[in-house]
Amino acid sequence: MLLAAYVSALVFAAGACVGSFVCCACSRRKSGESAIFGRSRCDSCGKTLSAAELVPIFGYIFLRGRCRACGAKIDPLCPVSEASLAAGYLAALLKFGLGAEALAAAALYTVLLAESLCDVYTGEVPDWLHIFGAAVFFAAAAFGADPVGRILNGLLGALLCGLGMLLISLIADRIMKCETLGGADIKLFALLGLFFGPAKALLTVLTACIIGLITAAVKKVGRREPFAFIPCISAAAFAVSFFGDFIISRYLGLFGLSAAF
Ligand SMILES: [Zn+2]
Repeated sequence: MLLAAYVSALVFAAGACVGSFVCCACSRRKSGESAIFGRSRCDSCGKTLSAAELVPIFGYIFLRGRCRACGAKIDPLCPVSEASLAAGYLAALLKFGLGAEALAAAALYTVLLAESLCDVYTGEVPDWLHIFGAAVFFAAAAFGADPVGRILNGLLGALLCGLGMLLISLIADRIMKCETLGGADIKLFALLGLFFGPAKALLTVLTACIIGLITAAVKKVGRREPFAFIPCISAAAFAVSFFGDFIISRYLGLFGLSAAF
């Protein structure tokens, strides 16, 4: 019991630290700074942050969300990233237990966070993030149960989800006379198709669209205004990775069917 609590605390702390690094690296991409080198400092006055101020989640609480030197507001996306990745890592541990599956889920959540932050900060997502995500899937599938079946199911999901969304975006672009989905959105859908297979990928698309519509309505985003959709896709993917099987089996159960994918 004590060991389980200790491992959980370590995994939570690891998620918070990785979330902090990803947020720092993505925000530095915006200003063109090195993602790895250079001390963390206040964006407003340039004061170097102390070790206590750098502690993920608690540093923000300790500073009450403001720089101690100049009082400028600290970007709230950083503590949100730290807390969400910490919760994601812990949830992966609780769902899959210690092992390759939990590691693959944690890597996927890290990619989702990095892509979301890149989209918010710069509107551009580097391709290597999708490639890294795909490599994680193939490594996890190769070492898991039924590698051939899982890889074929994943490739079918990636093909259906990627090509499906490409087709929908091309039609939507013509109707709306503007770019509706970005290339990175479509690549991320293909990556999620790979991880989830066709049925859960379709559920992710539907959930992402619902979250996207609600977010756009709440933020009053205009029809032609730029809108970061990847955080909505990521939130949908996170939810589906936990509740997808349950929702799909309940839905199919309404028709007396069982999940084939
Ligand atoms: Zn400052």
